[in-house]
Amino acid sequence: MDPKDPFSADFFDGSVLSHIERQQNVCPSVIVIGGGISGIAAARILHDASFKVFLLESRDRLGGRIHTDYSFGCPVDMGASWLHGVCNENPLAPLIRRLGLTLYRTSGDDSVLYDHDLESFALFDMDGRQVPQKMVVEVGDTFKKILKGTEKVRIENSDDMSVCQAISVVMDRHPELRQKGLAHEVLQWYICRMEAWFAADADVISLKNWDQLPLSYLLMKAYKLRVLVVKEHVLSGGHGLMVQGYDPIIKALAKDIDVRLNHRVTKILYGSNTVMATIEDGRNFIADAAIITVPHGILKANLIEFEPQLPEWKVAAISDLGVGNENKIALRFEKVFWPNVELLGIVAPNSYGCGYFLNLHKVTGHPVLVYMAAGRFAYDLEKLTDDAAVNFVMLQLKKMMSDATEPVQYLVSRWGTDVNSLGCYALDLVGKPGDIYERLRAPLGNLFFGGEAVSMDHQGSVHGAYSAGVMAAENCQRHLLQELGNLETRQHAYLRDEVLEGTIPIQISRM
Ligand SMILES: Cc1cc2nc3c(=O)[nH]c(=O)nc-3n(C[C@H](O)[C@H](O)[C@H](O)COP(=O)(O)OP(=O)(O)OC[C@H]3O[C@@H](n4cnc5c(N)ncnc54)[C@H](O)[C@@H]3O)c2cc1C
Repeated sequence: MDPKDPFSADFFDGSVLSHIERQQNVCPSVIVIGGGISGIAAARILHDASFKVFLLESRDRLGGRIHTDYSFGCPVDMGASWLHGVCNENPLAPLIRRLGLTLYRTSGDDSVLYDHDLESFALFDMDGRQVPQKMVVEVGDTFKKILKGTEKVRIENSDDMSVCQAISVVMDRHPELRQKGLAHEVLQWYICRMEAWFAADADVISLKNWDQLPLSYLLMKAYKLRVLVVKEHVLSGGHGLMVQGYDPIIKALAKDIDVRLNHRVTKILYGSNTVMATIEDGRNFIADAAIITVPHGILKANLIEFEPQLPEWKVAAISDLGVGNENKIALRFEKVFWPNVELLGIVAPNSYGCGYFLNLHKVTGHPVLVYMAAGRFAYDLEKLTDDAAVNFVMLQLKKMMSDATEPVQYLVSRWGTDVNSLGCYALDLVGKPGDIYERLRAPLGNLFFGGEAVSMDHQGSVHGAYSAGVMAAENCQRHLLQELGNLETRQHAYLRDEVLEGTIPIQISRM
């Protein structure tokens, strides 16, 4: 223990007296647990409002599920890489402008599947034959009809079911929608893309909750990942890859924050106006309040003990929300040997066997492909060694392109088994209760909850995680100031974006 550390329990001896002393100092203290974008945003708000704040992070780096790797000589995001919603309403837009970061547009606001098919991706079968674009378009049309049919199934059934089940119902009712041979494989590829959005297989995705969107948005979602789903709220502006990676945002937000890396919290004692966080090596940290932003997978796995135990309604909410998995295998080659498209896909008899590579050469100018796998397949890849995973992916690539060369460098993510994440982002399971997110984000006295999974309406995204952190910090701030009785006297200081708002356009391009 460090007796000079004002947050160490030894400094105040964890006593009531110490708490009174701190109240007299008038500067409330907050522990933020988790150094992803949500925790960093929370810490930033509190720091700028002159609270004593410090952040405990289990890894030896900040960023969490944002992890930009530079070892290829260009930024490669092994976690989040897209900004979903390139528009002023995106809470990250002011910061992106201020930092002068550029975006590579992969999908426009009004993009429909077919425009993108024709323009920016190529599908191949297992024998390396390119699927005719006409077939891609036609099967896409069929997919659209199938999705439309699932809407009807949803309306007819009060009980929830999986998307996969709903698709079967539609197919049984409309056998003409069934596809054969190569067309069937292309349909499976569309399902594979949809599964990538949710980071889960279609048989675990909730029909009731997977979209509350018009069909056009569904199609965008099926094509390129996520549309800012959820309920009525959809951010406009399409999707852009962060050309410099997401890391500059983390660095900028974390500036001057008191960060303690390699501090894994194992226990949280809360209530009575004080929170004490115990880390792995037994050290205790004490403050007036805490904000928890660890990934949902960590809470589900009970890796943090709470005293008193979390109430039953909170435990149930944690257990009822699922977590998906997605992994990336980034490959750097000597030189480019693939077609100049954004996405290279391989079709197969089932969605599990389909795959795709993002062509980062378009974005960075470096010969880099990133393979993405979701759901069970993502977990299965984590059972392999890095070498074996790369070999598997290379087999797929060689099926598509016989002249593929071996990679000179590679990176493999393991979000599902990494004890700091245990999954990639929140997933609505079949039968999910309606009020789950309210319960997840509800504070418990001086304990506040942030993180992507408690986002108001953008779970599973960077900007959603950011907003959730900001909201948790604002609630925590209000709570503490009310406790201290000086709400009126204190000026709230937030990130100052107004000057930049609307004046400098976000720099976005497409090659
Ligand atoms: C492969 C992948 C692709 C994605 N793609 C996109 C995308 O393109 N666009 C997009 O918007 N979003 C994307 N996301 C989602 C996005 O990355 C997350 O929603 C967001 O980064 C989550 O931020 P967070 O702060 O809530 O959690 P995290 O970033 O996970 O931060 C939580 C932190 O808590 C730490 N922690 C864990 N346990 C403890 C403990 N016991 N004590 C202390 N610290 C602890 C972790 O190390 C971590 O740093 C993707 C995610 C993944 C995994």
